[in-house]
Amino acid sequence: MKPKIYLSSPNMGGKEFEFVKEAFETNWIAPLGPNVNGFEEDLQNYTGAAHAAALSAGTAALHLALILADVKAGDHVLCSTFTFSASANPIVYQGALPVFIESEAETWNASPAFVEQAITDLIQQGKKPKAFILVHLYGMPAKLDEIKAICDKHQVTLIEDAAEALGSSYKGRRPGVFGAFGILSFNGNKIITTSGGGALLSNDKVKIEKARFLATQARDPAPHYQHSEIGFNYRMSNICAGIGRGQMLVLDQRVAEKRALHEWYVTQLAQVPGITFLEEPEGFVSNRWLTCILVNPALTNGLSREDIRLAMEKENIEARPLWKPMHLQPVFQGSSYYGDGLSERLFDQGLCLPSDTNIREEEKNRILAVFKALNLIR
Ligand SMILES: *Cc1c(COP(=O)(O)O)cnc(C)c1O
Repeated sequence: MKPKIYLSSPNMGGKEFEFVKEAFETNWIAPLGPNVNGFEEDLQNYTGAAHAAALSAGTAALHLALILADVKAGDHVLCSTFTFSASANPIVYQGALPVFIESEAETWNASPAFVEQAITDLIQQGKKPKAFILVHLYGMPAKLDEIKAICDKHQVTLIEDAAEALGSSYKGRRPGVFGAFGILSFNGNKIITTSGGGALLSNDKVKIEKARFLATQARDPAPHYQHSEIGFNYRMSNICAGIGRGQMLVLDQRVAEKRALHEWYVTQLAQVPGITFLEEPEGFVSNRWLTCILVNPALTNGLSREDIRLAMEKENIEARPLWKPMHLQPVFQGSSYYGDGLSERLFDQGLCLPSDTNIREEEKNRILAVFKALNLIR
């Protein structure tokens, strides 16, 4: 078997271990310490968010954002339907009800028209949504100006799920700093990783302090252990944060590598009828976390994205269908949905190609060989 080519694997820059070593040498082996503080500062400086809390996962950050947005059992919360389940699960953790919003074709992210329709419709039914989890999928920023204006008009708390979009920009600013809250993920497959981790961003100092309090078991200030609220164990370890500090040193380099790989695919596949890429609208810069193609079998002599995926799998090359929309997931059956079915078509036709910054020239050739064997390119 040839060595596996990954979709997106961890790629250390080299300095990570120095931060981890320092944590060992100073015995800061705990979910607090100098690396946690330093990583939070790095994230603030990079994103422009006034405050950041380093947490155990992006999912934990979303959960805390919902709590800080006062989302309670029975509340309605809007969420992009075209996403990974971690965007929507915390709504259910709170006993709230997800309302899924369809994408638009230019960014594959939530359509402002369906956001407006959902909010006005829910208000009419006396079920005004408390918050909106807006996802920037595969690194492409959503239409932030339009969506923020709608949320502001109706006073719906905007929470940006920028788990896949660290390093992207929208009109010169980083996704995650437009809403009341933004979340990031440093899971193993993301553009940078802490082996597992996340962060909550906000310009509201009090809210981030509250997030840190809730993330450390909600301990009241007292010499004994005293609690007047339910807390969580959601803080990031000082070891993981050390990896994060090292990764921040190479983040811009990783973005450049991901973008170059995307350009390479575009050049190689540009002439193939039936294969298309998502372009960046003016003012949108994607980190191109994963390069995605749409495959239209009507123009590829009947070849589907699944045919390409299976041909890759045979060669030990990891490719994956685009996210299956949340409104089609068995676990969210019966949830409300506003849309026209676009994400279902994207799911049917879409494929994520290997987008690993560790990729080597000979591995790129193995990927091209699959497209050649399928007679898509010569
Ligand atoms: C990875 C991811 C998350 C969850 O982050 P974790 O750190 O794995 O909990 C949330 N939303 C999206 C869109 C993601 O891709």
